[in-house]
Amino acid sequence: MRPQKKTSQSVLIRGAMEHLYLVVNCKTPGCTAGCVIKHLGPYAGQSEVQKMAPEWFEFRGGECKKLHLYSRTEIYPMRNRKAPPPEFENAF
Ligand SMILES: [Zn+2]
Repeated sequence: MRPQKKTSQSVLIRGAMEHLYLVVNCKTPGCTAGCVIKHLGPYAGQSEVQKMAPEWFEFRGGECKKLHLYSRTEIYPMRNRKAPPPEFENAF
C-alpha cells in the first residue's frame, strides 16, 4: 500500500480555525432543520451576532424548501471547523 500523499489541503483542514455561522431553525411544522443562513468568517469571539442581521428577512429551508419570515431575534450563532461549501450563499 502506498502512503497517502500529503496535500496542502489536508494540512489546511488540520490547522483550520473555527468558522462562525448564523443559524435559524426551520418553521415548517415537523421540520425543525437547523439552517445556516450566513457565514461570518473565522470565529473571532463575536457575541452580538444578531446585530449583523436585518431586523426581518425571508429564508427558504434547505430540507423542505419552504419560505418563512424570520426576525433577527430567532438567529443563533454556530461555530464549526468546516468552511462553507463553494455553492453556499448567504441569505442576506
Ligand atoms: Zn424545513
